[in-house]
Amino acid sequence: MRKIIIAGNWKMNKTALEAIELITALKREVNDIDKVDVVVCPTAIALADVEDLLQDSHIGLGAQNLHWEDSGAFTGEISASMIKSIGARYVIIGHSERRQFFGETNETVNKKIKAALKEDLKPIVCVGEVLEEREAGKTFDVIKEQCEGSLANLTNEEMGKIILAYEPVWAIGTGKTASPDQAQEVHQYIRELLTKLFSEELAQSVRIQYGGSVKQENTADLMSQPDIDGALVGGASLESDSFAGIIKASCTISK
Ligand code: PEP
Repeated sequence: MRKIIIAGNWKMNKTALEAIELITALKREVNDIDKVDVVVCPTAIALADVEDLLQDSHIGLGAQNLHWEDSGAFTGEISASMIKSIGARYVIIGHSERRQFFGETNETVNKKIKAALKEDLKPIVCVGEVLEEREAGKTFDVIKEQCEGSLANLTNEEMGKIILAYEPVWAIGTGKTASPDQAQEVHQYIRELLTKLFSEELAQSVRIQYGGSVKQENTADLMSQPDIDGALVGGASLESDSFAGIIKASCTISK
């Protein structure tokens, strides 16, 4: 039994004040919900303010990125221990925007996962193909390479602390959602891959989120697929009503 997990990736949006307003409004709508896990990932500068407001809440807090070193001359970066010290428990790693615009590779994703785990942070590790790869019939090859590279040399115990997110890049921020069947096919493939890389038991326990233009209207269809265990939400997490709508729609699904 895998509990659904809905995470909001606020990306480079919201000033600290706007972040406070958003989390205050979201709490009003979903604070009592514990049927699904809810996580918000604001910018690094809003983490502390948002954490203050989450003291009395089920909502979890995550960062959007980290550096694999603990400290040092890495201007502009933040480390796992810094994220943990603020009270966050999750961190997104390997988002396609970081792979596309900031040179993130499977190797750096792997180093970041290990750094996060060392501090007991739960990594949300993103994989996904671009449109040309899908059209060339290479989706499974790309996913295999990203999973094998990103998850290299992890123990079963370590893998058990990771959440995966399948995010077809062509569906991110485009309004084009993968159909429930398209998403399920890849989620099932990832679970089979995890069985080979780790074990059947482990593969059955890992939560795999779908991400890519998730909105309230498509949530129930996606979440009712057998291998989809949640959503990583970008645009629709920036307004409390739309994010709360996704969370509430997820609560209607019994897994
Ligand atoms: C994302 O960036 O992780 C994402 C899924 O964005 P959106 O929901 O806006 O497509």
